[in-house]
Amino acid sequence: MMTKRMQRKINFNAGPAALPDEVLAQAAAAVKEYKNTGLSVLELPHRGTHFLEIIEESKALVKKLCALGNDYEVLWMHGGGRMQFCMVPMNFLGEHDSAGYIDSGHWAEEALEYATHYGNVQILATSKKSNYNSLPEWPVSVSEGLSYIHFTTNNTIFGTQWHKVPKTKVPLIADMSSDIFSRKHDYKKYSLFYAAAQKNLGVAGVGLVVVRKDMLPCITRSLPPMLSYKAQVKENSILNTANVFGVYVSLLMLRWIDKKGIGAIEKDNKRKAQLLYNAIDNSKLFIPHVKKESHRSLMNVCFTAKSPKVEKAFIELCEKNYITGIKGHRSVGGFRASLYNCITVGAVEQLVQLMHEFEATIKNK
Ligand SMILES: *Cc1c(COP(=O)(O)O)cnc(C)c1O
Repeated sequence: MMTKRMQRKINFNAGPAALPDEVLAQAAAAVKEYKNTGLSVLELPHRGTHFLEIIEESKALVKKLCALGNDYEVLWMHGGGRMQFCMVPMNFLGEHDSAGYIDSGHWAEEALEYATHYGNVQILATSKKSNYNSLPEWPVSVSEGLSYIHFTTNNTIFGTQWHKVPKTKVPLIADMSSDIFSRKHDYKKYSLFYAAAQKNLGVAGVGLVVVRKDMLPCITRSLPPMLSYKAQVKENSILNTANVFGVYVSLLMLRWIDKKGIGAIEKDNKRKAQLLYNAIDNSKLFIPHVKKESHRSLMNVCFTAKSPKVEKAFIELCEKNYITGIKGHRSVGGFRASLYNCITVGAVEQLVQLMHEFEATIKNK
């Protein structure tokens, strides 16, 4: 007898986000058995050759996709994005030193709050007053005495994104959790960048960190090895029992990204965002959160409707049509459609179609 499979939903959730069917199938197969080892990937020893191969291939792919050479180190860390909110100042912000933070949204603000536990923090720019519906001006002049500048390349909750990143004299550190590998990008500008994996790169709990080697001698604070970039580099991210499965899924994602190519990914991401922003801009019902074209995120599209009642009705209609995860974050309300790399153009077309149908029914009432 055939077993009926649940229809797979289109998942616009901001994170944990959709993963490609192909990656899920490979991960599922590896849970059953990893490469004729007679073991599940969940049982692989973290200091064995198989996991070492996973680590080495993933590191090489990260460097390839970012066009980085041997002056950078790639780390797989525990603790997702927030652990890096801690590790960055622990490692690079001395007690009497100052770091500059650009406050462009919730995550940027949380990162700077974490840093205040370790040293002095200067807010170089903020768009908090306008509920972050645009990016703040990039600071024109900053003190060269700062230990680093931290910013968030894509603001997941408010739907803004830095499309141009100026070069700085002070080491630049970027939280790229929600737009890493989504477009052509000059990663060489950064002294360190990091990403929580559950958006464009796999499963929650994993954090990717890429750090330029010349940053490592700047670490002066005494730290337990788990929290020290220097110690983690020395131990090749296998300081304690590594998250073998999580890193493996990230490797599958990296292979998927590499196969499709960053150029093709960027082209699709622009097309998807254009389709959805056009639908919102041409609608009398839906209202965009971010007005300025130049600041709009290609990854997270935030919008509202005329009233909470209408918003609820549209979310219900989406759910009936196997579209999920479009409820907006509570600080913006309304909707947020996250258009990460594996969301297809066809999926966005389905959402847009539903928006048109919904608007027509509202008008006719
Ligand atoms: C999701 C997200 C985070 C937080 O990640 P956690 O793994 O939940 O700590 C941090 N920064 C940005 C930009 C994010 O989108």
